[in-house]
Amino acid sequence: MDEIATIAELRTRLSAERAAGKRIAFVPTMGFLHEGHLRLVDAARREGDVVVMSIFVNPLQFGPNEDFDRYPRDMARDRVLAADRGVDLLFAPSRDEMYATGSELRITGAAAASRWEGAVRPGHFDGVLTVVAKLFNIVAPDIACFGQKDIQQVTLVRRMIRELDMPVRLVVVPIVREADGLAMSSRNVYLTGAERSAARSLSRSLVAADAGWRRGVTDPGTIAALVAAVLHESGGLVADYIAIVDPEQLAPVAQVVPGTVIALAVPVGRTRLIDNIILGDAHALNAG
Ligand code: AMP
Repeated sequence: MDEIATIAELRTRLSAERAAGKRIAFVPTMGFLHEGHLRLVDAARREGDVVVMSIFVNPLQFGPNEDFDRYPRDMARDRVLAADRGVDLLFAPSRDEMYATGSELRITGAAAASRWEGAVRPGHFDGVLTVVAKLFNIVAPDIACFGQKDIQQVTLVRRMIRELDMPVRLVVVPIVREADGLAMSSRNVYLTGAERSAARSLSRSLVAADAGWRRGVTDPGTIAALVAAVLHESGGLVADYIAIVDPEQLAPVAQVVPGTVIALAVPVGRTRLIDNIILGDAHALNAG
């Protein structure tokens, strides 16, 4: 694996690969890698010939009171994990390298970016879409792999690719979970022992929603109440939102059907955790 820190050098390397007929598969991350990220690398390996991973903690997508400064970072460990899993080129630019040309302009996701996560984190998705567009322009990938874990991000990136005619194929990888169901996240390291144990109630609440739906409950309000009850009873937690929505627009549905998404965000101590399930998806709640 080669590590590259500048846009110019990455472009030179990739144009040689492209000229040799290689398909470029891209995995954008903020580092502090875990098995969820590495499963994106597996998908990239399957779909492409050259796997590029970026590690960049993007300041544009953090609010002023969020965790940009304390976001976990460990380049030495990430380097080993990425190389062992089959990343060919690791792009790890500095903030100055990424934003040398300025950082005023934003790609905005409009209404779809201001609900759910966007309502709690104003400007977050504009920061995400802007950096993803920049990275797509730098890497020019044939394939880009994203995790279902950040489902609103996936819907917005899909829409950006479509509406801006970007020649990229999006591959979405299912959520990778710890053995007890907690969705893997770089932010899980923030959790204390007691918080880590309360955090299990997120996936449990989704299991309860799934079970309720399988029993025939199709009213979104009833499903939301099931989720809220599990969060409260098994973790003492209250969600920021419990979204019961269609997978394309993430707009609330009147009736729960196969493919309906249940997405939630839950503060656990000082840490916000997110999780989701697509109803009728056989792999949704499998651990690991
Ligand atoms: P991040 O480093 O948090 O920006 O995440 C980089 C990519 O990894 C995003 O596409 C995430 O959706 C994906 N990802 C993060 N956690 C998981 C997980 N538990 N399972 C699958 N994909 C994940």
